[in-house]
Amino acid sequence: RLTQLPLRQELPGTLAMAYEGESAGFASAVHRCTGVGKCRADSAAGGGIMCPSYQATRDERHSTRGRARVLQEMVSGDLLEPRWDSPEVHEALDLCLSCKACGTECPTGTDMSTYKAEVLHQTYKGKLRPMKHYSLGFLPQLARLVTPVAPVLNKVSGLPGLTTLAKKMAGIDGRRSIPQFASTTFRKWWTTTAEAAPRSRANAEVVLFADSWSNHFAPRILAAAVAVLEQAGVHVRVVDQTVCCGLPLISTGQLDAAKANLSETITALDATGDVPIIGVEPSCLATLKDDSLKLVADEASHRVAVRVQTLAQYLLSIGAELPDLSGVEALVQPHCHQSAIFGNAADKELLARAGASTEFLGGCCGLAGNFGVEEGHYETSVAVAEVALLPALRKRGRAAGVEARTGSGAVADSGERLQVVLADGYSCRTQITDLSNAEGVSLAEILAWGWGLEPRR
Ligand code: SF4
Ligand code: SF4
Repeated sequence: RLTQLPLRQELPGTLAMAYEGESAGFASAVHRCTGVGKCRADSAAGGGIMCPSYQATRDERHSTRGRARVLQEMVSGDLLEPRWDSPEVHEALDLCLSCKACGTECPTGTDMSTYKAEVLHQTYKGKLRPMKHYSLGFLPQLARLVTPVAPVLNKVSGLPGLTTLAKKMAGIDGRRSIPQFASTTFRKWWTTTAEAAPRSRANAEVVLFADSWSNHFAPRILAAAVAVLEQAGVHVRVVDQTVCCGLPLISTGQLDAAKANLSETITALDATGDVPIIGVEPSCLATLKDDSLKLVADEASHRVAVRVQTLAQYLLSIGAELPDLSGVEALVQPHCHQSAIFGNAADKELLARAGASTEFLGGCCGLAGNFGVEEGHYETSVAVAEVALLPALRKRGRAAGVEARTGSGAVADSGERLQVVLADGYSCRTQITDLSNAEGVSLAEILAWGWGLEPRR
């Protein structure tokens, strides 16, 4: 393909991502698109996701193909100047959710989320960035820093004037909710209470990846995963170091910081041997499985990537006994990164074996990490949710006030059936609570509930 590329001028800078198999790196990668237009199809009804921004806007500029064309022009220097900071390029990429769907669903593997991260990285390298890159990109690190004063922050975040100002300064849309810190992080609970608790004999061992989001904002889910894994006879380990995949740094194109952060995490995980690495947040698992091979791209990242599995994949792989979920009706919003990197077959099979009746939605929830909370993206984010998620919630009446909670022991119960909205992604659950009265629960929580396990918290 290289001989056909009209490359007139090299784009400046050293590429941050590895473009394996590409003869001219980024330049040939963006020429993967052959223009057939599968990215303009309505894929959600068939369980697909590509391309949510096109489905929401019906504008070619906001399709994978439209973006690929603009990047090709940038690389060739024909209609656009060969500059990373070209306004046309940034306009084309602005509404890309970095959902990863095109990397898998496009027949040629046009991987726009990687190209977007590269463009943002090259554009802002060594320069002042938009505030949202700092506030959202470094959120896991910030959360770690402010943990000692988290209760105060939770209170302050309820003060309307102050919250509005803080969101404005951080580049966050004023209509978005502020996440509430848990009273105790998972890591604190694990090191002070759970790790040393007596356990029965285990037949297998895993490393549980305690991701930053779940650790600070939803530790009940990691605790539920511990309970479910132990119920299956598995010994759970958690690495001593605080580890984070750093996905927000990747999606905001802060790739030097992202690489340093991810390298540390990979080193810590690689030192744990060869047991499976299980997590509860799909986007973090996808980062360890996929982005790390492009960004860190060393032997350790490959060793770690092959060990990473979703909870459902792991439980199926060991033939774990499952609870009876025959009374459960689950509307499932799969995370777009899970759909792209792991697929949803294991979750479908596991829930079916447990007897649950499920409806798996196609399409993206529209939040997609930092995308939907950034100023200027709210309308598109909601329009993406309107493709599949919100109509499904309305149809089932969940937007009208049904609440679903496990872990605390309270669950939504309509007659004899337990109705839940299952969403493993923190983003998806945030979108559900921001845009409806429903509340998403995770697979780990549903399994723990099915076993009658109260996570030891
Ligand atoms: S991005 Fe992929 S699906 Fe869309 S037109 Fe190009 S090759 Fe086809
Ligand atoms: S990453 Fe998602 S939103 Fe962006 S071009 Fe690909 S499919 Fe579309």
